[in-house]
Amino acid sequence: MKTQKDSQSQRSVWGILAQTIKAILSVCVVAVLAATLFTSWPATGIAASFVSGSGNGSSPAGEATATAQPDYHVGLVVGHWGNDSGAVCPDSLGGYKEVDINYIVADLTQQYLRAYGVTVDLLKEFDDDLEGYESNALVSIHADTCERIEGHTSGFKIAETKANQRPEQATRLLRCLENRYAAVTGLSLDPDRITVDMTEYHAFDEIHPNTPAVIIETGYMNQDQYLLIKEPDRVARGIADGIMCYLKREPISPEE
Ligand SMILES: [Zn+2]
Repeated sequence: MKTQKDSQSQRSVWGILAQTIKAILSVCVVAVLAATLFTSWPATGIAASFVSGSGNGSSPAGEATATAQPDYHVGLVVGHWGNDSGAVCPDSLGGYKEVDINYIVADLTQQYLRAYGVTVDLLKEFDDDLEGYESNALVSIHADTCERIEGHTSGFKIAETKANQRPEQATRLLRCLENRYAAVTGLSLDPDRITVDMTEYHAFDEIHPNTPAVIIETGYMNQDQYLLIKEPDRVARGIADGIMCYLKREPISPEE
């Protein structure tokens, strides 16, 4: 038979034990909470940013590190690829074919964009995939005639799709490209010679109306030949920077 004292002392032992367990449990809860909080903070989310493509002359793939980013998806049309040569320079001016220049530039642009974490489709001029094509942006890459035109025959030109359901997006893509391309290549915009072939570019009517699209003439194959042939990396970086400006909603110029 248990005495009163015994049962009292037993109760106090259980009391101390219960308090100890409670204390241990609450320490555990705090530890678990803290662990959850710390692990739920993104390790890279705040610091993650695209590495600027601004150049040191190294290869595109070596300049940027891909980090966790939204899933950007962009299409690049290689002007005339799979169809014809495009503009051709006479032998006296190197015999260059526009389609070859376009391909080199588009391929390098693709490398820059991939290094920034963007999924890229390289498309032919009349690619079957252009029908209903949907992505964050479509840029068709061309180069301008090798013929000598009276007056000023240097510079680049850009036109946007008019059939777009989101014209403000296409305009922003165009303005981003104009700004970044001029900054990287040093070429000026040549707005006076934008042709119907550009404003009514066939692919604008084929792609999905939600896809903002532009066509760029990267420079004249005679006057701007040094840039197009010797520095295609700069041409590509100008285009890639313009596309990233659009995708990342960067201010187009420092004043904006
Ligand atoms: Zn062309």
